[in-house]
Amino acid sequence: MPRVPSGPMPRVPSGPMPRVPSGPMPRVPSGPMPRAPQTGPMRAASTRPGPVRTATPWARAEVVLGVIAAGAVAVLGLWWADTPRVSGLGDALTEAGRICGLLAGYGVVVLVALMARLPPLERGVGSDRLARWHAAGGRYVVSLVVAHALLIIWGYAVTAHSGLVSETGTLLKSYPDVLMATVALFLFVGIGVISARAARSRMRYETWYYLHFYTYLAIALAFSHQFADGAQFIASLPARFVWSSMYAVVAALVIWYRIVTPLVTMRRHRFHVIGVRAESADVISIYIGGRWLEELRAQPGQFFRWRFLDRGLWWQSHPYSLSALPSDNMLRITVRQRGDHSSALAALRPGTKVIAEGPFGALVPARTRRRVLLLAGGVGITPLRAIFAALPSGRVTLIYRASDPNDIVLSDELDAIAADRGGQVHYVTGTREELGADPLSPNYLLAMVPDLRRHEVYLCGPPGMTATAIESLQAAGLPRARIHHESFEF
Ligand SMILES: Cc1cc2nc3c(=O)[nH]c(=O)nc-3n(C[C@H](O)[C@H](O)[C@H](O)COP(=O)(O)OP(=O)(O)OC[C@H]3O[C@@H](n4cnc5c(N)ncnc54)[C@H](O)[C@@H]3O)c2cc1C
Repeated sequence: MPRVPSGPMPRVPSGPMPRVPSGPMPRVPSGPMPRAPQTGPMRAASTRPGPVRTATPWARAEVVLGVIAAGAVAVLGLWWADTPRVSGLGDALTEAGRICGLLAGYGVVVLVALMARLPPLERGVGSDRLARWHAAGGRYVVSLVVAHALLIIWGYAVTAHSGLVSETGTLLKSYPDVLMATVALFLFVGIGVISARAARSRMRYETWYYLHFYTYLAIALAFSHQFADGAQFIASLPARFVWSSMYAVVAALVIWYRIVTPLVTMRRHRFHVIGVRAESADVISIYIGGRWLEELRAQPGQFFRWRFLDRGLWWQSHPYSLSALPSDNMLRITVRQRGDHSSALAALRPGTKVIAEGPFGALVPARTRRRVLLLAGGVGITPLRAIFAALPSGRVTLIYRASDPNDIVLSDELDAIAADRGGQVHYVTGTREELGADPLSPNYLLAMVPDLRRHEVYLCGPPGMTATAIESLQAAGLPRARIHHESFEF
């Protein structure tokens, strides 16, 4: 049987800490959250069970996919109703091009809606899954846009008995707004290329992110040629009305949820940094104060997108999960230094204003009578730490995996929660070679949690670990529907 390391936890190193503002740390407001004073000036978050608001079945993934598919069928219906007959190769190619164009016009709206930060989608489907749908859908839409252009040129050329090059010239010169749509086509293709995995991995996240905004320009440039040249719209006022309403509604949602809501929320809740606490050599916790935070209805396991209004940081917002139960006047995140943004956070000064967008994420405890297994890898402990504190006593096991014992953070709090609540914590540290087995193999997991099959599992860690763990859990007999996970990469 694989050996599960037991006994006292490796202590968080007391070596060099990230720079934490000097001077006395502001007193953490009282209330349900701060408790369990720790070493260091900042108090740790509460280990006391908080108000568990279990997951609400907001928008289920299957329902959302069903609605998207129904919209696509309606678009095909629009084409069908307006196309009495197709005769000859020229017609067939042109109509195929029109179908591609209509689906692409619909697809871009869906792609934008998925990223509009609509609360029902963010909380019901989950931001990481929405991002995956957006990326996969983006590939289809770019393909449809290219196919639309090529098929229309080809179809018109066959019908007019002209060459492809001369037909392209005719389309650009004689058809209204086609030139603008062509610029949009190149923008879509360019965005598709930079979003390809190979290109994206060579680019800074922020460069890729801001270049991605050219999508909005491409959509605007392509919009008018649909009504000016699209057979389905030229003669039909109702079709134009429905189509433009679809664009207008999604544009309004983007403006509302991505721009207005964060500003209104900042004004109302007055988020600000209370203090920064070093958790290990490269991990810090940031305490963020505010008022009336209960109105946010943040649930353990969720995350916010944080924009710290400090020099050099204000222009980027990054997702970080709540690492403790939220209280009425304080939130906490725990951050591992990874790149420029996360590393700069250690120098945040108390009082720094913050724009917090959220809460987002579907990794929230579901209403269940089953036992719960929390499986964390590295800094993936953050949302699970909050969930651990929220779940009913005695039914929770936490497995916390880190190759290096120094990477274990918040262990005092985790131990305190386990002691308070009758939960169990297994710290699994060391490399596979040191352990003599893969700690994520089904046998190893079953050694720690013999009745694994009877559990609901919440999983958060690096992508490789998450994939392996899902495979092992299923191999150990757990149905996929009972494995809930979140990726820290969009
Ligand atoms: C839902 C979610 C919750 C997260 N929660 C935590 C947490 O609780 N604690 C923690 O330490 N980390 C968390 N992360 C990861 C954290 O967001 C990234 O480590 C951080 O944004 C890296 O930024 P950087 O500039 O320091 O590093 P970089 O070197 O610039 O980026 C490293 C990688 O982080 C990702 N990334 C960078 N910027 C962003 C961004 N603005 N939005 C999304 N992804 C980005 C990209 O994949 C990039 O390749 C979470 C990520 C997600 C998606």
